[in-house]
Formats: sequence, structure tokens, C-alpha cells
Amino acid sequence: MVTTWVDFKQLKADVAIEQVVAHYGVHLRRVGGTELRGRCPLPTHSSSRSRDSFAVNIARNVWSCRSLSCMQARGGRPGGNVRDFVALMERCSIREAALRLQQWSGAAPERFIVPREVRPDPVASEDRPLHFALQYVDATHPYLTSRGVSLRTARTFGLGFYTGRGLLRGRIVIPIHNEAGELVAYAGRAIDGQEPKYRFPAGFRKSLVLFNLHRAIATKAHTVILVEGFFDAIAVYQAGYPAVIALMGSTLSRTQADLLRSHFDRIILMLDGDAAGQQGTATIMNLLAPQMPVDVVSLQEREQPDQRTAREIQRVVQQSQAEAGDEHTVTLPKENG
Ligand SMILES: [Zn+2]
Repeated sequence: MVTTWVDFKQLKADVAIEQVVAHYGVHLRRVGGTELRGRCPLPTHSSSRSRDSFAVNIARNVWSCRSLSCMQARGGRPGGNVRDFVALMERCSIREAALRLQQWSGAAPERFIVPREVRPDPVASEDRPLHFALQYVDATHPYLTSRGVSLRTARTFGLGFYTGRGLLRGRIVIPIHNEAGELVAYAGRAIDGQEPKYRFPAGFRKSLVLFNLHRAIATKAHTVILVEGFFDAIAVYQAGYPAVIALMGSTLSRTQADLLRSHFDRIILMLDGDAAGQQGTATIMNLLAPQMPVDVVSLQEREQPDQRTAREIQRVVQQSQAEAGDEHTVTLPKENG
């Protein structure tokens, strides 16, 4: 007989409820920084009227369904932890549920385990500073070289291949900071074709921050170059323009627009040449152009800034500056060595 030892407490803490719910194909939508909501997937749920009664609290790693009939069928309890959820879904005992969880998370820890420290603080508002920094980050990884990122740049931005445990293991990690330069999240870029291409911590809202904003502010430049992705920003930075910011997508939120307006006088918009980039350019122009000068640098279709050489980036930026009659708005400090 094989004795199976299960650390209940560890499972409860390590296995993320949102990952377990997703494992059952249940789609929930995010409401606020730490809560997900949607239709209750439990077999105890009989009411067809309560379509939005199931809630998951990512920070506390618990779920609940407030439908009266569903609660009654569960002995009056509003909700529970990951084990309770699996026991109900599988109609099995708590112990069996724990064994299943252990099996799943043992076979695919990256799918089920969200390190506690990257989960949002239950009482905090969104994108609060992290109280840790990842260890085991290798800035010399060949993927970075293949993307044209110098070791010096990798160290400046804190990029590297993460060999530690958890959700970001085996990915290139990219630290994201708030306006004040406090670390708020890590993005994890897959390097082996794994989906999703970018992984963000649960609860992280990229619409509240701008990548590289704090460093761009520190340059004291009046003009900032706005790009879509992390690696676009890094390519522009390496081309000699440290006042560069990435949207982490092709949309601009109101918060991001406010951040830009409060720190810069002029924007050079350099989004991708694909359909999403063109759409993004149009909506961002509508939002920003009435309030501050925005120059659009048009890129050819499917061309991303990070696929351009430094010389090409310099050419389009200089052209844009000449057209605006201003040669001195973007600072160009020389890298030493
Ligand atoms: Zn229910």
C-alpha cells in the first residue's frame, strides 16, 4: 500500500483558486482588483435566476456563491477554499479533493500555483508595490541577446530568465514599476512558444501603469515616445531615447492618459503597423490630441519598433522632431562603453 501524504495547509495556500476554477472551464470576469464573478458552476446550484452569484477572491484564495438554494444545498455555507470547491465539483471527500489538487499541481505547477507574494493584498487598492524582488534572474540568457538586448540594458531594466519556482518559472521576467518607481509586478514572457505569450500576476491591472514611466520621468524630457510592447520600448531605449514608455498593448486608459499629461508636453506615438496598432493609434489620437501635441510615426504594416534597427528608429524620431521644429525635446545621453 502506498501512503500518500498531503500537506493540506500548503495546498490551500499554494494552489490558486482562479486556476482551479479555470481548470473546470469556468469563465469569470474581473470586478475590481481582487474579485472575479460569474455564473456558479457548482452542481449544488439550481437557481436559474442568479447568474452572477459566484465570486472568487484572488487575494484570500476563496470562493463563494450567495444564491440561497445553492448555499442551502451546501449546508448553509456561503463558500470555501480550493479543496471545498473541488470536493463539490467532483462530488468527492475533502481528502480526495486534496489528493486531486496535489496531483494536478504536481504535474503542472505553473498552471495551478500562484506564489502567495504575487497575489494582491486583500485590503490594498490595485497595483500596490510588491514587498519582494525575484531572485534567480539570469540577465545573460541567450533569448535576450537574440532580441538584441544588451547585457547592460537587461541589467538596467532588471530583465532575465527566471529559474525560481512558481508561475514565471522558465520565462523572461520584466519588472513593472509605478510612477514613483516602486516595483508593482513582473510580466513573464514565454520563450518557447508557450501560451500565453505574456503572463501577468492575478490582480495586476496594466491599465493603471505605464512600462518604464519612472525612468522616462527621470530623464526630464518634455517629449516621450510611446510604444506598444516591452521589447519595443527597449529597442527605442537602446537607439538612444531613454524617454520611452510602453503601453503593454495598443490601448490607452484614462489613467494612463492622465499620467502622460502630467509628466510630458508632447508624445511621439510609435505603435505597430498591424491592424491593432493602427486602431490603437486612431483611438489614442482621439483621446490625447485635443490635450497635447501628438506626432504619429507611421510604421509599415506588421513592422514593430523592436524589429527596426537603432538607425531606423533614430531616423523616424529625428524626422518627427524636425517636423515639430524642436530638436532638443528628447534627451540622448551617451552610453558609456
Ligand atoms: Zn451556486
